[in-house]
Amino acid sequence: MKHIAHSDEVWKSMLSAEVYSVLRHEATEAAWSSPLNHEHRQGVYVCAGCGLPLFESAKKFDSGTGWPSFFEAIADHVATKLDFRMFMPRKEYHCVRCGGHQGHVFKDGPQPTGLRWCNNGVALTFIPKK
Ligand SMILES: [Zn+2]
Repeated sequence: MKHIAHSDEVWKSMLSAEVYSVLRHEATEAAWSSPLNHEHRQGVYVCAGCGLPLFESAKKFDSGTGWPSFFEAIADHVATKLDFRMFMPRKEYHCVRCGGHQGHVFKDGPQPTGLRWCNNGVALTFIPKK
């Protein structure tokens, strides 16, 4: 996959302030702030930075955390790294194509994966199935 490597200035000019701070500087949106918490239609969730599909609606679940949550990401479309900025290390993940920060993945999700991909809603764009 070809990577998208804009300068910080270009990203800043392309994205809203909130999306920019999450995608490019790993900010976390306020819990319960995303309309995607209540999105139950069929479709696909794509990266708000570059449009790469990251999650399918069939893999979304209601985690009760206040952030859109998924038990599985689309294979090879996200990559992880350890984030030591909090007291406990967390596993950060981001879009493989543009490097945009999406959220953190935890091991307390439902089966079949047991994972909870906890995503910033502003980092995603939902595309309903036609
Ligand atoms: Zn992206």
